[in-house]
Amino acid sequence: MAPETPGRETQETLSNLLRETRRFAPPADLAAAANVTADAYDEAANDRLGFWERAADRLSWGQRWETTLEWNPPFAKWFLGGTLNVAYNCVDRHVEAGRGDKVAYYWEGEPDGDSRTLTYSDLLREVGKAANALTELGVGKGDRVAIYMPMIPELPIAMLACARIGAIHSVVFGGFSASALSGRIQDADAKLVITADGGYRRGAPSALKPTVDEAVALCPGIEHVLVVRRTGEDVQVTDKDVWWHDVVERQSERHEVVQHDAEDPLYILYTSGTTGKPKGILHTTGGYLTQVAWTHHAVFDLKPESDVYWCTADIGWVTGHSYIVYGPLANGATSVIYEGTPDTPHKGRFWEIVQKYGVTILYTAPTAIRTFMKWGDDIPAKYDMATLRVLGSVGEPINPEAYVWYREHIGGNRSPVVDTWWQTETGAIMISPLPGVTSAKPGAAMRPLPGVIADVVDDQAKSVPDGGGGFLVIREPWPSMLRGIWGDDKRYTDTYWSRFDGMYFAGDGAKRDQDGDLWLLGRVDDVMLVSGHNISTTEVESALVSHPKVAEAAVVGATDPITGQAIVAFVILRGSAEEGADIAKELRGHVSTALGPIAKPRQILVVPELPKTRSGKIMRRLLRDVAENRSIGDVTTLADSSVMSLISEKLPSASSED
Ligand code: ATP
Ligand code: MG
Repeated sequence: MAPETPGRETQETLSNLLRETRRFAPPADLAAAANVTADAYDEAANDRLGFWERAADRLSWGQRWETTLEWNPPFAKWFLGGTLNVAYNCVDRHVEAGRGDKVAYYWEGEPDGDSRTLTYSDLLREVGKAANALTELGVGKGDRVAIYMPMIPELPIAMLACARIGAIHSVVFGGFSASALSGRIQDADAKLVITADGGYRRGAPSALKPTVDEAVALCPGIEHVLVVRRTGEDVQVTDKDVWWHDVVERQSERHEVVQHDAEDPLYILYTSGTTGKPKGILHTTGGYLTQVAWTHHAVFDLKPESDVYWCTADIGWVTGHSYIVYGPLANGATSVIYEGTPDTPHKGRFWEIVQKYGVTILYTAPTAIRTFMKWGDDIPAKYDMATLRVLGSVGEPINPEAYVWYREHIGGNRSPVVDTWWQTETGAIMISPLPGVTSAKPGAAMRPLPGVIADVVDDQAKSVPDGGGGFLVIREPWPSMLRGIWGDDKRYTDTYWSRFDGMYFAGDGAKRDQDGDLWLLGRVDDVMLVSGHNISTTEVESALVSHPKVAEAAVVGATDPITGQAIVAFVILRGSAEEGADIAKELRGHVSTALGPIAKPRQILVVPELPKTRSGKIMRRLLRDVAENRSIGDVTTLADSSVMSLISEKLPSASSED
């Protein structure tokens, strides 16, 4: 069995405990003008490959493909024989069509008043110069380029310049340590690093260059470090360093487009590392761009003429790659990019940006939504957000309470929420409502998108009936699927393709409700086995979050002499709630009422913080170590490793009696 799959065999499929009866129909005006209607499901069901061919035809190809799909499990090739240039599709073609003056990015720096506007013509010039600079620095097709940058316009420009010349970028999130960066540089054998002196975080310059120096000292394969000046702080200059404003600025703005093969690599991106050692996920060109562009058009109902779209993710994660850079640009969208944190200089910063640019579509993560809930309803209420018309969520299961809060306090009870399930590996959204079609349920990702064949199976690989829970799998290849793990075909096969014969194993649990709609239930590694019942972390956490005193919750299964495993819950209280003596009893009773006595936590610990990855996801395996009194495992992917000692201190006072 693969290292990432659960080490424990399950006796039954996942329990289905949560009952949710709220429904939100699509707004009539949105439905009437929607980019994609219900017909798309039938169209794709009748002819899946034909459906993806039509999606591919939304792009501009040098040479049209000959074979739509070649599938030698587990290796897929899409649009064989086709050639295209991703940067041309994202930039040039919009300028050629007369839309050069259209804004591609409104960039908002963290310091007040620091902003830039880039039109598609601006982007064409900047990408052309950067592509010429990369060539001058000796970077050619197939070479790997590590990118370690703050959220500034040079980041997408650098990515597009790589794509233009066929170099493979590996963006490493700017919050990672020197050892995480050097490990990723070495794994991909990169020859160039693109970085900046620093960026602004929480009201102050935050240096990046010293981390790069430390990492590059361990990477003899790096020939040059290309440095953008952003903060203007002093940096130590090494003999490998060249400044962006020297090398890029003096280049010609013209760069002749070259076509690349549809299956040429586009990028490597390491997963966020919630479950352990990150994997270098490889994505290629034609299929990837096809699916990110189509899903961005369909799931967000993007109207390039009138929408202002904002995805708040960091470009260092796949959400930023697919839905800040490639999808929106391929569709000719106008997007917002924000450099900083949501609480700088004040907790209304996001809503101020929505108001300033008239954002119509907002895409963010449950971790952010729960934080905004904790900060209070009065903050977003101060801003005019009447322009918003579609809201998206990604990264973790969204608790129904958080969904309803998001819809009401951000979306004015008018904007549909699309809960989008996907992974670094899938490249693009796979399971999601369509905002003009789906009557959505809070907390459910609902249906696989047209052209995606997802299923929930039991441990014998049989589809579970409606009302059942189990393992989420994808039964057929999809255009933006990963083409492997960089340099490790065996890990690719073991991790994703050996759990169930011929199916992609996503590693997530899910249930199919009585209507056939899908609910994501968290990672299968985290499933708790209590008295012979497999209980998902998500359902218990959602029950806790539905209590008015709870802002956030994480639950784990800890070894228990009687029940096999018992549920231990870690909760953060809302700002106004008191940590009274009875809180544990109250919350245990609340969960028992909501889900049944089987799901009642043995212990409730009130904690100040939860351990999260740098992308904001809760890391339950570390909490399991705490709950079982073990020494705490690998914390290198944690955003803040001091959180663990704060939590451990809480342990002795835990109440477990009823
Ligand atoms: P690693 O694979 O290294 O542990 P990771 O899985 O956190 O890291 P990502 O690819 O960024 O890295 O995250 C994908 C995972 O995020 C999914 O497998 C799922 O667990 C979770 N996820 C993403 N979107 C949703 C969603 N809408 N609902 C539920 N879970 C989601
Ligand atoms: Mg994963």
